[in-house]
Amino acid sequence: MRRLAPYQTGLWLAEYVDIRCQLCRVYRSTAPSQLLSSHLSPDAPPIADSMLTDIYRGKVARYIHRHLSRGLLCAHCHHGITWLPKPFRVDIAAGSALGIQASTFYDYPIRQAIRAFKHDEDMSKLPLLLHAIRQLPRPHGCHHDNAVIVAMPTTPQRLVKRGFDPVSILAVQLSKHWQIPLWQGVRRIDHTVSQQGLTRAERLSNLNNAFVLTETPPVKRLLLFDDVATTGASLQALGRALYKPATNTASASSLPTNRYHLSAYALAHGSQYR
Ligand SMILES: [Zn+2]
Repeated sequence: MRRLAPYQTGLWLAEYVDIRCQLCRVYRSTAPSQLLSSHLSPDAPPIADSMLTDIYRGKVARYIHRHLSRGLLCAHCHHGITWLPKPFRVDIAAGSALGIQASTFYDYPIRQAIRAFKHDEDMSKLPLLLHAIRQLPRPHGCHHDNAVIVAMPTTPQRLVKRGFDPVSILAVQLSKHWQIPLWQGVRRIDHTVSQQGLTRAERLSNLNNAFVLTETPPVKRLLLFDDVATTGASLQALGRALYKPATNTASASSLPTNRYHLSAYALAHGSQYR
């Protein structure tokens, strides 16, 4: 990971040193604990208690982030963006749907930031995208021992064309945010350079059988992640590949059909009617 150091340093500076908002660059950024406190319910434990619990559990990194971070956006910019749009669902098997939760909509300023990051490798947009990722609450009941994050895999062709894999960089940040490991047991084998500009039917036909499991998932909770979900077709295809029960083991017939519990997350939810 040669590219890890430069952008990690940039994120670190944005979070702990730079006092300005990473979006407007005018106002002071607001510490995450202050932004969070406005969402806390009246019966939530006081911050001091959760600090002690975090230290007790050894979650030093989360403690440092929550209490020493200057934050990435000012309160004005944070509250100007709609976070956590209503989740939507796609079918992955008969009677089974995959819920997709995005951190925000694929609109200004997230849309421009994602495009600059993906297409121009503009790492200065990463702090804003990281702020968006941090709005995704860790899925209920999931922790580092019982769940893994499955980032939308890219193809070797795309990797060569782009020179880097934006989704995997974002997934690393989600992994740190949730304290849940990444799992890379899926390979993408389609030969389509980009899904952009294709009709829904063309996308779906390309996505059919595009994902192949190279190993068995180590846990039952699989948290799928992609940068942008519009129709949810890519996450749906990935979900279908992961949902399929194993057929090459003797005990497969005795296992319940839905062996894995899947849910999906995206940085942004795009409108399909643009
Ligand atoms: Zn701002």
